[in-house]
Amino acid sequence: MEVTFWGTRGSLPTPMQSSHIRQKARALLRAASGKVFKDEAAIDAFLDAQPFWTANTYGGDSPCLQVGLASKEHLLCDFGSGARRLGGAMLGKFGPGAGQTYHVLMSHLHWDHLMGFPFFPPAFIPGNRIIIYGCHDDIEASFRRQNQAPNFPVDFSFLGAKIEFRKLTAGETVEIAGAAVTPKLQLHAGDSYGYRIQAEDAVFVYSSDSEHRIEDEAAGQGFVDFFDKADLVVFDAMYSLADAVSLKEDWGHSSNIVGVELCQRAGVKRLALFHHEPVYDDQRIDQILSDTRRYEEIRRDAYPGHPVLEVLAAYDGLTVAL
Ligand SMILES: [Zn+2]
Ligand SMILES: [Zn+2]
Repeated sequence: MEVTFWGTRGSLPTPMQSSHIRQKARALLRAASGKVFKDEAAIDAFLDAQPFWTANTYGGDSPCLQVGLASKEHLLCDFGSGARRLGGAMLGKFGPGAGQTYHVLMSHLHWDHLMGFPFFPPAFIPGNRIIIYGCHDDIEASFRRQNQAPNFPVDFSFLGAKIEFRKLTAGETVEIAGAAVTPKLQLHAGDSYGYRIQAEDAVFVYSSDSEHRIEDEAAGQGFVDFFDKADLVVFDAMYSLADAVSLKEDWGHSSNIVGVELCQRAGVKRLALFHHEPVYDDQRIDQILSDTRRYEEIRRDAYPGHPVLEVLAAYDGLTVAL
């Protein structure tokens, strides 16, 4: 199994600004001062040695992930704006002639998780099949409404692909594209659902848009069970712990610190911080990542016998092999 992140930003797509590029250019020029590079490989080696934020970006597309499995059929999580590039890449790879099947697990129907669908090129192509799964009753109505005039010029009924909707139930495991998929109810305005996906001896958990109340021990234990020994957990770490428990309590999101706690307790191997706050620039996310890694180190000894938790910050274009 491998997981590719096509969109990692929360709430709203967040394009980089000129001021950000300028900040990166300054940092790189400062670091490269006086150096001579003999070829492109030497430049790449230099860039790889710099802090991530200077020569890269976490990206700005809203949530969309692809779970690569042995199956020829595609498995995705959420239809955020990252779905536009994902759809383009799949079209480039398979061409418009060969019908493709896309299975899409929807966490919930907030706009940042849905907005990529009208721009998903495979939806326009006859012969393709798109099956959209979720636990909410109004999934189909939400997708249809999004494509309606005056908000979008191409009505749902004009889409070439065959589009189907399937209702899932929290706690009930179903087989999708060769994987065992189990949804779990999460605390979020209007409810959201996480997915535990098990296939090919690997376990991947997608848990976006989920608030965790530290004082609710039973709910915490529920997530420890849900994350149990996962190879990768994608976790809503939109806020700092201080913000999550004070200013932004009830905003429906969680923090890097809670992510580390739950994953260490559950014996998870890798934690990907996800649903990045739109106001954070790349340098700030780098800082959050290094703070989170430091916290993981400090707390490591509390769980003897558990694997060391590797912490990463998801970015648009990242692929993690499980
Ligand atoms: Zn969201
Ligand atoms: Zn949401």
